[in-house]
Amino acid sequence: MLRLRIKVIGWTHRVLTLTDTPRPDCPDCQGDGGTAHDYGDHNGEYAGTEWEPCPCWTQWAVILLPLPRWPRRTPPGYSDEPPF
Ligand SMILES: [Zn+2]
Repeated sequence: MLRLRIKVIGWTHRVLTLTDTPRPDCPDCQGDGGTAHDYGDHNGEYAGTEWEPCPCWTQWAVILLPLPRWPRRTPPGYSDEPPF
């Protein structure tokens, strides 16, 4: 069953999308939507992390509408870099 949610993606051009959500009680990913696997190079050194999406959800996003770019009103002294 799909658990749809509305999500805004994109930092430069904000887009409103409809996406699926990972199962919160999924025994495989515990609601994270996937599992991260650390992998090593041929010397056994850490070489990175691979993200494996969980089959409990589908990674798609339907674009509902592009949002207009509002001028950001940031009080002086606050960073406007994400995360806010
Ligand atoms: Zn899952």
